[in-house]
Amino acid sequence: MSPVFRFAPSPNGHLHLGHACSALINAELARRTGGRFLVRIEDIDTTRCREELVEACLEDLAWLGLQWEEPVLRQSTRFPAYRAVAETLEGEGLLYPCFCTRGEIIRATGPLAPRDPDGATLYPGTCRGLDAAERARRLAAGEAFALRLDMARALAGRAEAPLGWIEGGLPGTGPERRVPADPAAWGDCILIRKEIPASYHLAVVLDDALQGVTHVVRGQDLFAATAVHRLLQEQLGLPAPRYWHHPLIAGPDGKKLSKSLASKPLRQYRAEGASPAEIRVLAGIDRLLDESHGHRDGERHGEDGEQRR
Ligand code: GLU
Repeated sequence: MSPVFRFAPSPNGHLHLGHACSALINAELARRTGGRFLVRIEDIDTTRCREELVEACLEDLAWLGLQWEEPVLRQSTRFPAYRAVAETLEGEGLLYPCFCTRGEIIRATGPLAPRDPDGATLYPGTCRGLDAAERARRLAAGEAFALRLDMARALAGRAEAPLGWIEGGLPGTGPERRVPADPAAWGDCILIRKEIPASYHLAVVLDDALQGVTHVVRGQDLFAATAVHRLLQEQLGLPAPRYWHHPLIAGPDGKKLSKSLASKPLRQYRAEGASPAEIRVLAGIDRLLDESHGHRDGERHGEDGEQRR
């Protein structure tokens, strides 16, 4: 079975150099391993994703010289599937409705509250403890709610077989290592948002499985989220892909690019006369995908100790 890689942008803005880096790395790894390369449009956030941005995104990728398999899966066509899986988890007692607003959460926890790996306030569990009558009353009144994962329940009984994943081990990514997963660091995370019948975590896990993705290669900023993805995969009986979280974009000299260069839209580089080959150099692809540099890059970008054996 050949490896399957994917690049999965969210079209809520134009693609920038960081996206080009991820897309080119995925395509290059597919090439080096004789694998397949997919593009998936992660457009669940219907309030922010726009049609013209989807078209612009595919056009930018084609301009970079990438080729991917058709049809391109769009997550906005998958809401019923996400909902159905959420209902299954709800039926197992693993999800509960949460009516809290962001403001209420912050008021309930105070400024020194513990944070999740993305720096957001950890949910204090307010709605987990609602009594059944109160919950039913608020649902009947039509109050908006999100569905949260009851993390303690989802983790109960898992102590025997701790979660983890395989990181790296691809040509140019450094050696393979096993990373222990710590989903509890995210607390009772949201699996169905209030305003959108999906969430990043649920959609990404279901679609990677649907599309037979064997290798999830994405930026280091999503490293910690993989713990939740592994938990969901286990809970739903889905296969565990292998992962590589590539260092965030670095220039050809190995120094981190300034934010303004890294977040400049690809089409602006293009309008200024840059060629796809120059973008590849600017994004540092060939240097990032170099066996001898794989680990050092990770350290420079602040991987924490628990990622190592
Ligand atoms: N859609 C996500 C993003 O653009 C990436 C998801 C992933 O690669 O898992 O940040």
